[in-house]
Amino acid sequence: MTELYNFSAGPAVLPEDVLCRARDELLDWHGSGMSVMEMSHRGKEFVSIAEQAEADLRELLGISADYYVLFLQGGATSQFAMVPMNLLRGKPQADYINTGAWSKKAIAEARRYCAVNEAATSVSSNFTSVPPEDTWQLDPDSAYVHYTPNETIGGVEFSALPATGTVPLVADMSSTLLSRPLEISRFGVIYAGAQKNIGPAGLTVVIVRKELAGMTLDGTPSMYDYQAHADSGSMLNTPPTYSWYLAGLVFQWLREQGGLAAIAEINRRKAAVLYAAIDGSDFYTSPVDPVYRSWMNVPFTLADAELDKRFLEQAAGAGLLNLKGHRSVGGMRASIYNAMPEAGVVALVGFMQEFERSRG
Ligand SMILES: *Cc1c(COP(=O)(O)O)cnc(C)c1O
Repeated sequence: MTELYNFSAGPAVLPEDVLCRARDELLDWHGSGMSVMEMSHRGKEFVSIAEQAEADLRELLGISADYYVLFLQGGATSQFAMVPMNLLRGKPQADYINTGAWSKKAIAEARRYCAVNEAATSVSSNFTSVPPEDTWQLDPDSAYVHYTPNETIGGVEFSALPATGTVPLVADMSSTLLSRPLEISRFGVIYAGAQKNIGPAGLTVVIVRKELAGMTLDGTPSMYDYQAHADSGSMLNTPPTYSWYLAGLVFQWLREQGGLAAIAEINRRKAAVLYAAIDGSDFYTSPVDPVYRSWMNVPFTLADAELDKRFLEQAAGAGLLNLKGHRSVGGMRASIYNAMPEAGVVALVGFMQEFERSRG
């Protein structure tokens, strides 16, 4: 049987070891006689799962006691609203860096709550780059600076952490959190929908500097209040227990791989192999500025778009799934998150070379 590799942007591939472990534990978690799905979220079994997941995530990312780690629902999209509701703290304005599709959605939602100062945009490069930091028009009176370190659709990733002085930095890390080590202390808030690089859909991880929580806009529902979630251990209501458990298994798996430094080295290698194949051919093109190419999401086009359909069909036939680019960009996109084995990238490159040679 052909080995299958899933290049979906999200929900995305999970480590096979994690899925096997979940299968083994599906009906009876650790002799409890219950599936994790059947447990009370307030029972000792699930509480131990939840606490272990948080401890492992803190260990992986080096998250200090100055931060809350929240396990929420509503996706990154809810954070587009939750960030201004919690972080404006009486200020009328926030700075946003616009680097593509997800930045734009965050900006549109923030405009419902405050004035948005679009401090920089890469529109002039058609969002294939990151605006140089020395051109950013940051306002020191803004409540926070929001950016999207990895644009999942455009395949653009920041190569350095922005410097925002005393203004809190907020990051939508949905498609890059856990892909490499991170200096958490530089951030006010980090959030990520789980279904890219963390676990199954339904879970949203939010890391909040404690001193920034507790000052919500008047009328903020408690479900949108970081402090209310923190005070209840992310159990203000029934949390997404199974997704939380699975994310915990992913955190354990990452620790077994040697942690984020080891994973980053593998991710760097996988991306290098794929970009080298693209750059080494006249048939494939990456639209993205080489300095800002994502390690996680790799869009590319074929010299002849007429061949796109055949490329996708034959790729699927060779076990290489979900390579179709986002509808707004076209072409192809290979998402190569932590759980994509190096062998998957090697198989993709081999297929691409053969397709180029034979033109399908
Ligand atoms: C997928 C994605 C989102 C949307 O996430 P949901 O969990 O579906 O709300 C937001 N931002 C980025 C960068 C993403 O990749």
